Amino acid sequence: MICIPVISNNLADALHDMAEASKFADIIELRTDYIKNVDLKCLLERRTKPVIVTNRPVREGGKYDGSEEDRIALLKLAIQLQADYVDIEHDSVRHLCGDTERRVPTTGKTKLIVSYHNFRETPGDLTDIHKKLSQSGADIVKIVTHANNITDNVRIYSILQQSRMPTISFCMGELGIISRILYKRFGSYLTFASLRTGKESAPGQISIHELLNTYQARRQDKQSAIYGLIGNPVSHSISPIIHNTLFKEMNLNSIYVPFKVDNIGEFIREFRGLDVKGYSVTIPHKESVVNHLDAIDPIAEKIGAVNTIVNKDGQLTGFNTDCEAAIKVLEGVNQASAKSLGNAYLKGKKVAIVGAGGAARAIAFGLKGRQAQITIINRNYERAQSLAGDVGCLARKFDDIQAFDTDILINATPVGMFPNINETPIGKNKLKPNMTVFDTIYNPIETKLLNDAGSQGCIIVNGLSMFVHQAAAQFKLWTGRMPSVETIESIARGKLTNRRSIITNESSFKKNY
Ligand code: NAP
Repeated sequence: MICIPVISNNLADALHDMAEASKFADIIELRTDYIKNVDLKCLLERRTKPVIVTNRPVREGGKYDGSEEDRIALLKLAIQLQADYVDIEHDSVRHLCGDTERRVPTTGKTKLIVSYHNFRETPGDLTDIHKKLSQSGADIVKIVTHANNITDNVRIYSILQQSRMPTISFCMGELGIISRILYKRFGSYLTFASLRTGKESAPGQISIHELLNTYQARRQDKQSAIYGLIGNPVSHSISPIIHNTLFKEMNLNSIYVPFKVDNIGEFIREFRGLDVKGYSVTIPHKESVVNHLDAIDPIAEKIGAVNTIVNKDGQLTGFNTDCEAAIKVLEGVNQASAKSLGNAYLKGKKVAIVGAGGAARAIAFGLKGRQAQITIINRNYERAQSLAGDVGCLARKFDDIQAFDTDILINATPVGMFPNINETPIGKNKLKPNMTVFDTIYNPIETKLLNDAGSQGCIIVNGLSMFVHQAAAQFKLWTGRMPSVETIESIARGKLTNRRSIITNESSFKKNY
């Protein structure tokens, strides 16, 4: 179930938000600690969905700063008024029950959620905490902790798997977002989502819009296959919307989430327990992840970088779909000659690659396979030489004018990527008419480099086309089914354009006020 908390600070807004939230949620949480002069009877009478009444004190991360007596009195009133659920903090149960009674004197309708919140960490004794809460008279146990490490989510998953009674559990904070999204797969009784951005009642809570649209949360169940993106940062990735939309369109019971990872070795080890079926891998883990897998596909091994992981019966194998995607895009630039020449279109072409990281490696090895004449140009010249040595091609320095005497010029650095959209790695004077200029960056789709190249009469190729092909290839590796590249491109364009207009609106808002 999905619960939307109402955190309005007056009765009129609370009634409005409760009605709005009821259109999307299964349960509404009335955070009475936020609502001034709360009229509980009025709110409960007007409910159309089951309601949790919560009156959270400041010590447990809430807003209530009055007397404990008054706070508990409101919860007792909620029980009298037959609220569907009342949330009581684990250390206050006895105040609600009375000293002698173990059970709360409810009318029989109200279910009791006994909750534990930890805003600092996910403590080591989760099993003991769960046991204590289970024996407190609770109908439902709630354990909410703060994730300081992505692996804390796995510990929450274990608690939920072991639990014999209904339990709500997830991690707060950016690193805990996956436990909120994967609530059904993890076995949590419910998850929380905000009515809209800015209406969060706790750190890391995502909006109902994101939960339902980006993550297609309603399609999830206990058997859903988990896929995800390993990287850092990952919060602005468009991969979740792409893969979750494809899963929906192809009717696959799967869900794709972002994993913000610092320590790749620890992550791969700990998440084996969750049986994640496949990963995309992005900056900065494409090269380091190679050492933590069970097998590597020969092409990825040669490149020394993995952007896709497939889990087959617990065996993790690394692949590289960037290589194949970049070649497909370059061969598609001049479709007529590419068709007539087949794989020979790139043979003998002079190609300069700016950059010597993971993307440059994948593209360079792909081009080598097509017998192109490759030159690597990189800020760190030793790194350029090292890649050129591995591939068997030339390395040149940025200030070497000959380096840019080329048929095809490829930017494989992040220079010009959002938010630094006015930067370019290559001066306009180096761009010559009829040169093909391919920028691997896809956010923005039209980079400064491509704008400059267009105005100089070059043939331009954006990074979105490569992104679309690598995403399609990885989807096929995971599921055995090839998605439509047109669908992927249209989802990606929609998301990137929408994001740009939101950013433009935000900046004009800031300017105006
Ligand atoms: P990476 O492994 O971190 O390599 C980054 C490269 O960029 C290095 O060679 C680095 O040079 C160079 N670089 C970074 N900042 C620079 C600067 N300010 N000036 C000059 N050079 C700079 O990253 P990656 O995975 O290869 O990704 C590189 C780019 O490719 C990113 O923009 C990414 O979005 C894009 N990409 C696109 C796709 C797609 O599907 N379209 C797929 C993969 C990657 P040093 O060696 O001197 O540090």
